[in-house]
Formats: sequence, structure tokens, C-alpha cells
Amino acid sequence: MRDDDDLQIQYEEPRLAFSPVFQISFIMLSFIALIFSRILTQSFDVFLDSLYILCISLAGFWFGLRGGLLAALLSTVIFVLEINIFHDFPAIDLAIRTMVPRFILYFFAGTGLGYFSDKEHVLRRQLERLARYDYLTSCFNLRHTLELLEKEIQRSKRYGQNLAIAMLDIDYFKNINDTYGHLVGNEVIKIIGGIIKKNLRRVDMVGRYGGDEFLAIFPEMQSKNASYALRRISRELSTIKFTSPYSKRQIEISIKFSAGVVSYPENGINTEELLSMADFAVYKAKKKGRSCIVIEKRKWSRFEPTQGLEIEITASGSKKPFKPTKIINVSQNGMKLLIDRDITSNHFSSKILFTGENPSGDILCKVKYKAKIKDDLWQIGMYFENIDEYTQEKLLNYSRQSSEIDRI
Ligand code: GH3
Ligand code: MG
Repeated sequence: MRDDDDLQIQYEEPRLAFSPVFQISFIMLSFIALIFSRILTQSFDVFLDSLYILCISLAGFWFGLRGGLLAALLSTVIFVLEINIFHDFPAIDLAIRTMVPRFILYFFAGTGLGYFSDKEHVLRRQLERLARYDYLTSCFNLRHTLELLEKEIQRSKRYGQNLAIAMLDIDYFKNINDTYGHLVGNEVIKIIGGIIKKNLRRVDMVGRYGGDEFLAIFPEMQSKNASYALRRISRELSTIKFTSPYSKRQIEISIKFSAGVVSYPENGINTEELLSMADFAVYKAKKKGRSCIVIEKRKWSRFEPTQGLEIEITASGSKKPFKPTKIINVSQNGMKLLIDRDITSNHFSSKILFTGENPSGDILCKVKYKAKIKDDLWQIGMYFENIDEYTQEKLLNYSRQSSEIDRI
């Protein structure tokens, strides 16, 4: 089923904007109206001049320095023509005597506002860039990457397309920092970002997900094909040579990475599901000895346990485990619970108990959100930070016998 409700999400605040055609037409019509007003009033009075200055300022505000200058010149030409044609209008002497200061005023109105409008434009562009790009690499920052991912998922949903995402984490990056220093490390991250970008299609997107982690988004692609792009990147990263102002010698290093590839709708149908699966695929790649790509095959499943599954949690700093009042749902990556006490720490450990089987080992959990429902009842959502593959597999099998939610 298509989830059309999600398509209502708005990504940009709507704002009042005039098209350039409207803006040019408005200014030209204003000048024509002012010429007619001169003829109708048959006077060179100050009121009309202030309206000219208003038009010039508006041109500067909308079109910058060049627009303001052009409007000032146009006003000057109009005025010179007017004093030559309408030489018998009242106040003509005053108009001629104040001609030069009038032109200077036109010029200042146009260039002043034009200059500040240009400056504002440049600053806005810089701000937009800062809001979207990572400061170090040429990749998008985390916030914008997540926005793009959300948008691409919605697009894939609407048009029934596939979408692959790949999460890459550089192997042993700390060693590069330790060997060459943090500044060279920064340059390496920059080079890696550039190489990833270069090896993707123009429609693909790449963001810096964390320190040495990148997230690539491949619209209309399946996991297998995305992994070919990763292989190309891996080949190019296997030898990188560069000179750095922070090192006397030319640096030659081989970069390896571990990657997890997941795709919509096979592995998940929303951002949270896909990212969790990709994250876990990277974790598996690291466990498999690094320098490999794991193409995730499993589906995300979040289910409401009815029987045969219990959970015990222990707040960090406490030794006494307790059972939640209710397990709202569990997935391979986290769970949502109702508990009868407030947990102040963001970390705790949990054990999953399947009836008739040994309990799982301690699973570290991180609280994603917490909400007080009423007195002595809190709802908490959390991620498993180090769940083992065996327990995940057991959860998946359990979910097949339970009611799956969120997939209909
Ligand atoms: P692993 O193979 O397990 O990924 O090991 P790793 O050494 O790459 O460690 P991990 O991915 O857990 O941590 C990333 C390290 O990358 C931590 C930090 O030292 C380094 N790092 C993160 N961000 C930056 C950065 O902006 N510049 C530099 N120079 N180093 C960074
Ligand atoms: Mg790493």
C-alpha cells in the first residue's frame, strides 16, 4: 500500500516571492506612470521626485547594484528629457538649479540599496551553503542528507521505484590521525569525500554522516548496483597520494572501508528503518573483518510481542533489573516500552528472554526519546547499541510468528 499521507510533508517554508518578469514590469510601469503624472500635474514638484527615488531604490533592492544603477540612469535621462520638453511647467527654474544634487540622490539611492542587496544575496548564498554542506568535505552535512533521504524515500514511494543507500565507515581511521596527525587526517577525509562524490552518478547524493562515516543515496537503484559503485570507490581509495602542508614528505596511503547497503522497499520503508538496517550492516561488515561490503538481505520488522518474549532492563549505575509494564513493540534494532519508573540515564542494559531458551547476553541500549504518560508511567524508545546477530535472528524468527506492524 502506498503511504500517501507521508507525501504531505513540506520541506521548505512557503514565502512571498515575485518573479523577475513581474519585478521588471512593475518598475517599468512605475516609470511610465511617473511620466504621465508629470504631464497631468504639469509641475516639477518634490513629491514626484521622491517617487522616482522610491522606484530606483526598489530596482536596487530587487536587482542589486547593476539594477539600481540602471534605474538611476533611466531616471536621469527621463528628467533631462522632461526639463527640455516641459520647459514652461511651473518650478522649472528650481528643477534646473537642483538638477545635479537630484542626480546624486538618484545615484546614491540606486547604488546604496543595490550594494546592500548584493551583499545580502552573497551572505544568503553562503548561509545556504553552510546549512547544507559539511564544513570539511564537499559532501552534504548530516541534516541535509537526512532531508534528502526523506525526500527520496517519498519519491520512491510515489513512483514505485527502488532506492539504495550505502553507509561507509573508514577502517582504522584513528591510525591515520595517530601516524600523521589530526590535520592530515582532515585532509584525508576531504579527499575521501571527493573520491566518493566523483564515483557516483549525477543523480546520486553523498553526505558526511559522522566523523569518518559517509552516507550515499542512490535513487532508482537496487542494492547490487550500488555495491558496484562502492567497488569503484574502494579501488580508487586503495592508493591515494597527496602532498600536505602539514607533512614534509608526499603521503601515500591505502584507505579501506566497511560498508552496509540497504534498499527501499526490501529492507525498510522509512528513514528510521533504512538507516538502522544500514548501520547494522556496517556493524556486520566490521565484525566480518572490515574492508568489505555487506548487502543487507533482511527485512526490518517491528512487532508487538504477545507471548513467549520477556525483557529485563537495568538502568546504568543500578544492579537491580526490572521488567517493563508493557512491551509496546520490538524490532531487531530497538524497542518501545512502558515502564513504571523514570530512568535518568540515557544508557542502560537489557536482556531478552525467549520462553524455554537461555536469555540473551547484556544488550546495551541508548534512549532515543522518553515521555511521561501519567504518574508512574513513562514511555521510552531506544536503540540496541550492541545487539548480537544471533539475538537479532531470534527476534526475526519470533516476529514471523507475531503480528507485524508498520508494514501494511
Ligand atoms: P573502525 O575500523 O572500527 O572504524 O576504526 P576507526 O579507527 O575508524 O574508528 P571509528 O570509526 O570508531 O572512529 C572514527 C575516528 O575518526 C575517530 C576520530 O579519531 C576520527 N575522526 C572523526 N572525525 C574526524 C575529523 O573530522 N578529522 C579527523 N582528523 N579525524 C576524525
Ligand atoms: Mg572508522
